[in-house]
Amino acid sequence: MNREYYGKLIFELSKPGRVGYSLPKNEFEGYDLLQLGTMTLRQTKPLLPECDELTVVRHYTNMSNNNFGVDTGFYPLGSCTMKYNPKLNEELAALPGFNIHPMTPAKYAQGSLKLYDEVQKTLAEIAGLSRFTLNPYAGAHGELTGLMVIRSYHMSRGDVARTKIIVPDSAHGTNPASAAVCGLQIVEVKSLADGTVDVEALKPLLGPDIAGMMMTNPNTLGLFERQIPEIARLVHECGGLMYYDGANLNPMLGVCRPGDMGFDVMHINLHKTFSTPHGGGGPGSGPVGVRKGLEQFLPNPQVRPTPTLPCREGADTIDAQEYEVYTPLSTREGQGESLYVSFFLGNFGIIIRAYAYLLSLGKENIPMAGKLSVLNANYIKESLRSHYLLPIDTVCKHEFVFDGLREEYGGDHHSPEHVTTLDVAKRLLDYGFHAPTIYFPLLFHEALMIEPTETESKDTLDAFIDVMKRIAEEAKADPQLLKSAPHDTPVRRMDDVKAVKEPKFTYKSVS
Ligand SMILES: *Cc1c(COP(=O)(O)O)cnc(C)c1O
Repeated sequence: MNREYYGKLIFELSKPGRVGYSLPKNEFEGYDLLQLGTMTLRQTKPLLPECDELTVVRHYTNMSNNNFGVDTGFYPLGSCTMKYNPKLNEELAALPGFNIHPMTPAKYAQGSLKLYDEVQKTLAEIAGLSRFTLNPYAGAHGELTGLMVIRSYHMSRGDVARTKIIVPDSAHGTNPASAAVCGLQIVEVKSLADGTVDVEALKPLLGPDIAGMMMTNPNTLGLFERQIPEIARLVHECGGLMYYDGANLNPMLGVCRPGDMGFDVMHINLHKTFSTPHGGGGPGSGPVGVRKGLEQFLPNPQVRPTPTLPCREGADTIDAQEYEVYTPLSTREGQGESLYVSFFLGNFGIIIRAYAYLLSLGKENIPMAGKLSVLNANYIKESLRSHYLLPIDTVCKHEFVFDGLREEYGGDHHSPEHVTTLDVAKRLLDYGFHAPTIYFPLLFHEALMIEPTETESKDTLDAFIDVMKRIAEEAKADPQLLKSAPHDTPVRRMDDVKAVKEPKFTYKSVS
């Protein structure tokens, strides 16, 4: 492709007076616009690109071709669950009946409310908890909501000294961030060499100031936290609640349930586990579930089956509301006020997609998703450990972490010349694969976190394994080839720091 021509900004393609439309003659030409008052008129023309239709079409089509997505290639981005999102979900979410205004009276939105309630109930069943809210807009938003539930619970009991929350050092960055936004102090608990929470290190942290503990399972290294029953017992004994970060519930689906493990509050990412396209910041949905006894702390508004059906003789059927939106006064913080975290009922389009996904798999097949995601991850891990350093040698769940290339391929990690994880990630782009997550989690210097998901065929996994091995051989034979990668992408290696420090969000005309 001619990048010099096609890589231009739309503003650079602009020519004064060039248009992509033709309108009938303006009947109001000559009308004194100043009669509208100078206040309402802009003083300068807006800076808008002026292009013909074909230029605009080519510009945006070429840009979209530069995108990489699950629909274009393998995307093993650890912690993100970039599974294939069935197109059926999109079709169902676009049904005109669901395209209703959020202020639509409940009696005209019965189908949508029924779907909403069924997703709430299905998630409660999957999680082994009592009740869910679908209001939060994302995983991090769910964390904040869940922590507010925990805080409300303590406040309602007059237990106001619980201002600290325990977070493992391996946690996703959103955990401490959400806790801080919620006004809680973060207490970090260390991991053992095997990557799981150190129970002995946890014990001295527990006390009357602990509101609870946040855990991710499988944790950020893709490992099952085997000590959960003991950890839950200890945290409950000190009066705290257990929070489950279920953003990546994928490997657990239909296999085990956070509620059964002793968790009190959790969130789920519908845009990971339940197959909504994601990336680039949204839209998402982070439903929050609670165990029995905490339901009154969930945010409003809520959806439920109408307690008593109006069955008046000869009533209009539309009157027979089966579902309603209600806003109970909670006992939150003992004040009788209610918590709101979103406008209306959250991101409904995402909830429809989750419902479509749940129904198309069905109760019988949902456990297969989790098991296949685990099998795929372990297959890649075992196939590549001869070339990449596996710091924690155990069966993983849906993802795992390498600590860069093995020394025989990449050189000594301490040497400035060694071939880094960044070099491997950049070289992968030349082979048409999205890079795995790199330099996260922070527990290893050269972290390379791979999550294939269950939707990939063995052929794709084998092709990826093959390329990863080839890259390791290249690192040994010609390190410069990797250090200068990528060679085949629209832009080469970016200056990440400059991009962060001097972002350019607007176009400034040169003239
Ligand atoms: C993705 C993720 C989150 C945050 O979810 P967002 O929807 O991006 O806010 C939290 N925890 C874990 C473990 C995650 O993988």
